[in-house]
Amino acid sequence: MNCVQTNSPEETYELGKSLAEKLKAGDVLLLSGDLGAGKTAFTKGVAWGLGIKDYVKSPTFTYVLEYNGKMPLFHFDLYRLQVAEEIYDLGFEDYLLTGGIIVLEWGERAEDILKQDGIEYIFITINKLGENLREVCFKCTEKGRTIAKELL
Ligand code: ADP
Ligand code: MG
Repeated sequence: MNCVQTNSPEETYELGKSLAEKLKAGDVLLLSGDLGAGKTAFTKGVAWGLGIKDYVKSPTFTYVLEYNGKMPLFHFDLYRLQVAEEIYDLGFEDYLLTGGIIVLEWGERAEDILKQDGIEYIFITINKLGENLREVCFKCTEKGRTIAKELL
C-alpha cells in the first residue's frame, strides 16, 4: 500500500487533481471508504484536474453523472447496487469505450467483476483518521503502483 495523509478537504482535492493530471482516457478509479470518508471530495479534485467547472456532487440517487472537461468524467456511486453486474446496465462499457475517466464510489463492490472481465483499475482507499485527517491509499496493482510512485 502506498498511502498519503491529507489534513483538509482542500488537500484531498489537490491530491485528486494531481492524480487526474496523470490519467489517460479509459482509466478507471475505484474509490473505497466509509460514508463521509471523502470519496466525493476526492472526485471533485479529479474533476478539477480535468478542467471541469461544474459542481460535482454525489450521484447516490442517480447512480451515474457525466461531466465534460479535458476528457469526460463518468462518476458512479455504487452504494445502492444490489449486484455488481448492474454496472453494465448503467452503461459502464459504453462509458469505457467513450474514453473518459470513470470513477466508481464504493468501487470495491465492482472489483471482482472488473477483475473477472480483465478491466484494469486503480484502487484507492480513503480512511478517516480524525475530524479532518484522512489517509488515502493506492493499491499496488500494476497501474496503481506506477501512478502512486509518481504521486507520492
Ligand atoms: P464520501 O463521498 O466518502 O461519503 P464526502 O466526500 O461526501 O464523503 O464527504 C467527506 C466529508 O469530510 C466532507 O464533509 C469534507 O468536508 C470532510 N472532510 C474533512 N476533512 C477531509 C479531508 N482531509 N479530506 C476529505 N474530506 C474531508
Ligand atoms: Mg460520496
